[in-house]
Amino acid sequence: MYDVLVIGSGLSGLISAFKKSKEGKRVLIIEKRSTIGGNVYDKPSYNGILEQVYGPHILHTNKKEVVDFLSNFTEFFEYEHKVAISLNGELISMPFNINSLYEVFPRTMASRIEEKLLSKYEYGSKVPILKLKEENDSDLSFLYDFIYNNVFLGYTMKQWGGLRPEDLDAQVTSRVPISISRDNRYFADKYQMQPKHGFTRVCENILADMKNTAIMFNTDFREIVRFDEKNSKVYLDNTIFNGEIIYTACIEDILSENIVLPYRSLRFDKEIISDINSYQKYSVINYSNTQNYTRVTEFKKLTGQENINGTVVIKEYSVDYNKNAGDYSSIPYYPIPIASNFNSYEDIKSRVNSLFPQVKLLGRLAEYKYYNIDDAINNALSS
Ligand code: UDP
Repeated sequence: MYDVLVIGSGLSGLISAFKKSKEGKRVLIIEKRSTIGGNVYDKPSYNGILEQVYGPHILHTNKKEVVDFLSNFTEFFEYEHKVAISLNGELISMPFNINSLYEVFPRTMASRIEEKLLSKYEYGSKVPILKLKEENDSDLSFLYDFIYNNVFLGYTMKQWGGLRPEDLDAQVTSRVPISISRDNRYFADKYQMQPKHGFTRVCENILADMKNTAIMFNTDFREIVRFDEKNSKVYLDNTIFNGEIIYTACIEDILSENIVLPYRSLRFDKEIISDINSYQKYSVINYSNTQNYTRVTEFKKLTGQENINGTVVIKEYSVDYNKNAGDYSSIPYYPIPIASNFNSYEDIKSRVNSLFPQVKLLGRLAEYKYYNIDDAINNALSS
């Protein structure tokens, strides 16, 4: 009946399903939630302000193919993400850059450090915080200590359940390098935009453009798919399924053994504020050494809806992942990028690959990788 089975309708699953359907395959998508798009799902909240239900999602990429693909399903509005970090009651430009230097230090000092930075690094270059540590210069060591202690340490420990920047794979803090420039944009990518009507609409449009495709919502794949380890066979509705399986859920759920790979989860405290039109100066403000939350997002500022009255904000708390809790904490958001977890993952992956060669693992959960939106799309397009 079906040629391809896709587990999960997040960007990875949905776009991979789209690709298969364009190749003329009959596709069944199985989705646990009642909604499409995985964690990019958004919905209208107060006065139609789009609420990104699973936290802020921002599109930025250097890959033209990603933009070209999405352009078939949405118009965009230009959006350059700007973030500040709250420090001693002031808002400091993030990623930390030359402007930030002048925001936090007296002018003469800032200018001396700027000169040092520009003598060492080319204008426009990016220096991960853990690289700056290696500099053998008293001003740059001072700068490293300042940024490490005020920008990275508190935030990282909140976000990663007590882990410090140096405990994590270097890719984590390298996502937000120090920028040797006066560019206050959070991302440096060539293409920066948001879909005009949000991400859910994009996903709905992709789905609507697929032929020979069925999608089952509210269905945990384990209700109808059985991975039989003993015989290396997969059953769909009790019938052997030999087709390709694009699997985007947690990899460990393929195996019968009760393995739990570590993740971080999130809790969002939402506030609808009807009597003000702007809650904060930036769409996202980070908090490192103050507050228990990591960041506050004001949606209308990143959905192109600043003209709407009232506002909707979320405070984002990082929480321990508790797979069986049945509440927000049972949603896996972030794989925890440390060597021991990568090793556990590789072990599971080699077992899955040898037992079920028809399974293709795709996306943040199945590949245990900290993918951005554009990576997820690009990988799905080449799946
Ligand atoms: N980070 C930080 N302070 C900040 C912003 C980021 O320490 O103000 C660190 C932190 O470890 C975080 C990582 O950099 O988890 C990646 O940040 P990013 O903004 O990319 O996180 P995401 O939006 O993916 O949650």
